[in-house]
Amino acid sequence: MQIKKSFILIIGCWLLVSFLSGCATTPGRAVLPTYNIDGVSYVSLASLCKSENIRWEYDTYTGRAYLNKGTHRINLMVGQRLVLVDGMPQYLKHPVDIYQGAIVLPFRFKEQILDVLFKNAYSERGINLSSARIKKIVIDAGHGGRDPGTIGKKGLKEKDVNLDIAKRLAKLLRDDGIEVVMTRSTDDYISLERRVAIANNSKADLFVSIHANANRVRSLNGLEVYYITPHANDSKRALQSAQNVALNLDRSSFAYTPSLNLKAILWDMKHTSNRAESVKLARNVCISAGSSLDTKIIGIKGAPFYVLKGAHMPAVLIEVGFLSNYNEERLIRNSFYRQQLAESIEMGITKYARNLALIESASR
Ligand SMILES: [Zn+2]
Repeated sequence: MQIKKSFILIIGCWLLVSFLSGCATTPGRAVLPTYNIDGVSYVSLASLCKSENIRWEYDTYTGRAYLNKGTHRINLMVGQRLVLVDGMPQYLKHPVDIYQGAIVLPFRFKEQILDVLFKNAYSERGINLSSARIKKIVIDAGHGGRDPGTIGKKGLKEKDVNLDIAKRLAKLLRDDGIEVVMTRSTDDYISLERRVAIANNSKADLFVSIHANANRVRSLNGLEVYYITPHANDSKRALQSAQNVALNLDRSSFAYTPSLNLKAILWDMKHTSNRAESVKLARNVCISAGSSLDTKIIGIKGAPFYVLKGAHMPAVLIEVGFLSNYNEERLIRNSFYRQQLAESIEMGITKYARNLALIESASR
């Protein structure tokens, strides 16, 4: 019996070696372990993403997984057949599942979703960001240091939210090959004049300011994006509306003075085309936020910007949500949601940049 066992062992080893060497001679082909769940073939999300070079995150609290590669996003949920592919709903034949503690996807997921998405992506990527005109972006995390911005009922400070999202956004954009200049990357007070100077000196292509909202009406929630309109004229009405916009934009206790608020967000528009570009950028951010976030999208609004000599780049100010709203404060406290916010903003910016490059290449 002893001999027989050894023989089986040797044969077993030989088969294993042949199998492994067989795999090794097929370059680039990853062998993914599959699992049989009720007769359906599944593959682990982690190994699939690794072999396809896809970044992913999983939120154990909500059961949602968030995949991204380049500008593409796929949202999955454990127990669901529905997946969102760049915001468009698609249905898998079988639901996403959990097997031995790991998230698993139906084996056909790659063929049905990934292969289609990335094959299409190549033609779209004919216009890539390296050839686009948008090369440098200023990201402005609102408030900081002794200026906390608005503070949620449970104590969440706007300055911390803004900085965290700004940093996440900066990383995503840098991964896209875009140069990022941050008006602040620490919890420090930066004067409005200094922010203005940083933006002016950077000669960036876009300016993106990150803020969080507050309102006395605690039921108000959602994301809104402000684009920059030409400087309001000096009529009383225009000034009044500018102040109202400023107050609505930012109700922080620190910067409650309308004039100070105005300065914070008002930007000079030397070229009227910048207004149109700001609108387009705002719209793109709203659309991508709407397609990837489970929150209300209030929409885009214009805000007159403070006269600022020399700065004439398209600019938007994103109010990511209301810290005065109990549910939204809780949502924004979640780091996974802040990552989703950053990614949806990045997606909007890169879509805007690609569209711009497409238009420019067509007009050449
Ligand atoms: Zn603010």
